[in-house]
Amino acid sequence: MKTDLVEQIKDRLDIVEFIRHYVPGLKRAGKTYKACCPFHQEKTPSFTCSSEKGLFYCFGCQEGGDIIAFLMKIENLSFKEALERLADLAGIEYQSTQPLSGEEQLRANVRQVLNFAREHYHKNFMSRAGEHARTYVKQRGLTKETCLKFELGLSNPGGTDLAQAARKTGYSDEDLKTAGLCASTQYGLRDYFRNRLMFPIINQRGDTVGFGGRILGEGEPKYLNSPETILFTKSHVLYGLNFAGPEIRKAGRAVLLEGYMDVIGCHQAGVAYTVAPLGTSLTEDHARLLKRYTDNVVVLFDPDEAGIKAALRGALILIERGIFVKVASLPEGLDPDEYIIKYGKESFEQILDNAQELIEFHTQLQLKAYQKPLSAQHKTAAVTELSQTIAKQPDEIVRQEWAKYVAEQIGVEEQLVRARVRQVVQSTSFVPQRTKPIVASVSPVGTHNAEEDLLAWVMKSPQHIVLCAELSDTDFSTPALGNLFNALVKARMENPDAQDLTALAQNYAPEQKNEIIKLALLQVPADFEPARDIASCAAKLVAAGINKQLKQIKQKMKAYGTGNVPPEVFQQYVALQNKLKKYRK
Ligand SMILES: [Zn+2]
Repeated sequence: MKTDLVEQIKDRLDIVEFIRHYVPGLKRAGKTYKACCPFHQEKTPSFTCSSEKGLFYCFGCQEGGDIIAFLMKIENLSFKEALERLADLAGIEYQSTQPLSGEEQLRANVRQVLNFAREHYHKNFMSRAGEHARTYVKQRGLTKETCLKFELGLSNPGGTDLAQAARKTGYSDEDLKTAGLCASTQYGLRDYFRNRLMFPIINQRGDTVGFGGRILGEGEPKYLNSPETILFTKSHVLYGLNFAGPEIRKAGRAVLLEGYMDVIGCHQAGVAYTVAPLGTSLTEDHARLLKRYTDNVVVLFDPDEAGIKAALRGALILIERGIFVKVASLPEGLDPDEYIIKYGKESFEQILDNAQELIEFHTQLQLKAYQKPLSAQHKTAAVTELSQTIAKQPDEIVRQEWAKYVAEQIGVEEQLVRARVRQVVQSTSFVPQRTKPIVASVSPVGTHNAEEDLLAWVMKSPQHIVLCAELSDTDFSTPALGNLFNALVKARMENPDAQDLTALAQNYAPEQKNEIIKLALLQVPADFEPARDIASCAAKLVAAGINKQLKQIKQKMKAYGTGNVPPEVFQQYVALQNKLKKYRK
């Protein structure tokens, strides 16, 4: 039944269309689709997927698998959770009969208690006791509809309001603590949020994962977020994205704002493609999340020193992910919601349309920092600083344009800027990555060699494996590839009717599943002729294997010294030489 469901899901859902929701940049390349990988940072696309095979593979970070593996990895779900979601999407009735695992149960509990809290806070907000909270948001220009839409809430001041209500409903103290809603104190269990305007934090899937609370009246800190829990990681969520997601896709751009109120105000005014990080600076995870929706982001910042710095830092993180970034700020120190109320939506969107390119923004900052005309020393300093930004731009053409712009503005030769950029690229390109090592890729297909080509070809044309009769596992350059070759031979022998060994090979070499998927997605040359190409590639590998053995024997003979070589060693040498002749043309 389980495998049946998996098959049904794969039949009904196209992996390429599914992945496109997360990786909008997917482009056709022959029979497969390619894009920059959502799982690691890269400048040339090495992430590949194929409808025909139902698989994806990244030649950069070696992540690979089927549609279920993709969803598990990108949404951080268990197999069962991923299956449920895909079954739902495919319109397949699916009732899990298996009990939830410990962690799944815990997550389900936390989800439930967070939903309870959201409703409880909202009830408080709408009640008579919520008068002061409603007055506050009204002063900030929010309508009742907006408050309902964002389900704004109120945490009461006492410190036990939520705890008591939750206990009455049957939630345990443990549930409340795990959800980050209450904490044990010397006085007993106490609410984490008190006398605050509550903003439910809802992720892109519509799950409430935590809360942000703004103090009502005096007190510190002004804003407080839920502590991180099993469901809540600050850097994985952008406030407003649950509503903004479809709007961002429609508008073709996203706007990054600073806080909850900015987002709510913009959405109310009809600029709904706006989101904000949760009171933290932008992270790589945020960039990855945004990249699922768009390649264009406008960063709206406070024009003070801290705001400018944060905008620049955030923008650099975004361009590294291949996002085109523009930056803008509002006049008169106005917040977005204030600006829209004063000048209207059109004027606001005009500011977004006229936002500055990142390189312009950064260059103008540099020019402002020095007295004009720039001294040679200041020019060097400025070019060095700006080269850091240019080097982060993954698009070659844009990088050239930027170098040209910087050269003009600073008043130096363009080639000097380009040379400086090259230096930066070279000095940073060997920085060890946080995750798995990344294979430097020369071609967009990623690195592979004749050995991998051969394995890929016989996997797709098993009937031609006979042409590899002379080849043995020791002819391969690594034991892993040799092992894979043996697995393919065995799979072919035991399944003589199989037209494609991709699935079977995984049973014969389960520990090399990823390698197999990679091979399955390698593209064959346009003029591929299985018989001819497999035979000639096998011959080349056999010859390479013989050469390897010859080299070893020659070393041995040298060690014996002239005249002392035992006859059997010499015979071996002659036999190998003769064998090699067969493969030389
Ligand atoms: Zn990757």
